[in-house]
Amino acid sequence: MAHGDEERPGRVLIFTGPGKGKTTAALGTALRAAGQGLKVLVVQFVKREECGEHVAAERLAGMMELRRAGAGFLSEQDAAEMEAARQAARAALSDAAEALAGGDCGLVVLDEVLYAVGRGLLTADEVRQAVLGRRPGVHVILTGRGPHEALADLADTITRMECIKHPFESGGAATPGIEF
Ligand code: ATP
Ligand code: MG
Repeated sequence: MAHGDEERPGRVLIFTGPGKGKTTAALGTALRAAGQGLKVLVVQFVKREECGEHVAAERLAGMMELRRAGAGFLSEQDAAEMEAARQAARAALSDAAEALAGGDCGLVVLDEVLYAVGRGLLTADEVRQAVLGRRPGVHVILTGRGPHEALADLADTITRMECIKHPFESGGAATPGIEF
């Protein structure tokens, strides 16, 4: 079966906070869901260099698809760059909304969508509409450090990652398999 229990609304989960673990918790859940026969779509709203999960997802083709749909990291307040990022985020959200409303996926992950809202690339309301428009039984995960107050009431589960320690603070390098 491609999707979950058609009778009940799917779950809404938010992984947020300053500590490490938001995207990886979403990917861990994606792996779990795929093992239960739910087809998974991961849409990434912030484009990063190739990470282990991009390569691994290709091996899980048919069970999981990972789309690097968003714009790159926004460092400056450049109007043209912001507009391009806004368009990329909107296209990514419309893709995700289609998957949420359709019958094929059992889990849709909107990775870094809270960052996209926090940076003003998307409004919380358009994300809210996409989540509310999901087909019964379809689960959705939202991740990112941005504020999530406007979306919190939709969630069944909100987990805030707290940063107790991170090697970057003492000059540690990003490690393959751990950070990317
Ligand atoms: P991960 O992808 O490892 O689960 P994340 O999704 O919680 O991390 P992001 O805010 O998306 O964190 O951060 C992107 C990158 O920064 C990742 O390589 C992540 O490992 C790293 N990172 C996450 N939290 C911290 C932190 N508190 N200090 C420094 N680097 C961090
Ligand atoms: Mg992340």
